[in-house]
Amino acid sequence: MRLNHKVALITGVGSGIGRESALLFAREGAQIVGVDLNPETGEKTRQDIVQAGGQAIFIQADVSRHSDAMRMVEAAEESFGRLDILFNNAGISHAQDDDAIHTPEEVWDLTFQVNVKGVFLGCKYGIPALRRAGGGSVINTASFVALLGAATPQLAYTASKGAVLAMSRELAVIHAREGIRVNALCPGPLETELLMKYLDTPQKRQRRLVHIPMGRFGQAKEIARAALYLASDESSFVTGSTFLVDGGITAA
Ligand code: NAD
Repeated sequence: MRLNHKVALITGVGSGIGRESALLFAREGAQIVGVDLNPETGEKTRQDIVQAGGQAIFIQADVSRHSDAMRMVEAAEESFGRLDILFNNAGISHAQDDDAIHTPEEVWDLTFQVNVKGVFLGCKYGIPALRRAGGGSVINTASFVALLGAATPQLAYTASKGAVLAMSRELAVIHAREGIRVNALCPGPLETELLMKYLDTPQKRQRRLVHIPMGRFGQAKEIARAALYLASDESSFVTGSTFLVDGGITAA
């Protein structure tokens, strides 16, 4: 078991990457602190972990609120005594996100509130807990769009993921000597709710697939496996990386 005796806090466990990572990390022996804004889906993931013989708690929280971010880290230490893995994964994309001319200011603010401030707050309260545990691994979910322009304009989302990437690299350098590794996980287009709600016709899906060399969308499970590597000691010399799991889209 690759995460035996480790405590992992994962945000966005109600769906997609967060859910698959929580299930996989638990199977690999980690005790899971699952966080999501949605109490039903988050609790469902917790139940599924426990039913499969794993250990998990669920905290309903909004990662963009500082009191919630504090509470989720406190819950990890209170329930399991320590924190070893901090996976800041929750993120949003907004239907009205567009180019600079058309993106409403409120959409820009909301996107940055969740995608950027959420990661900042996770690190603000989570990194001291990792330090108390003697080191650990931080994984921040960015996106391939941090490196490429998106095929369809989503300026706030793209800029927010660029900020996550930059933040991760700087934090990696700051905390390297403390045994705290920080990596930015950059998925390509995935078959999850976040993207598929926009690609609601075969034509729209096909137009997007043209840009992916592997000719298919990624699965959340494939991202979870990369996250497992970054979370585990197998990646002990990996920090500050831009970890692409993208079907080749950034190489094309
Ligand atoms: P998803 O929509 O399937 O899941 C996101 C989860 O985060 C949901 O359960 C949602 O309730 C939760 N969440 C949203 N806002 C929250 C908040 N403020 N506080 C707590 N929880 C909140 O999405 P996904 O595809 O699994 O995406 C996960 C991450 O991967 C996101 O950061 C996303 O930007 C990134 N990403 C996704 C893709 C893709 O194509 N789906 C590609 C690259 C990067």
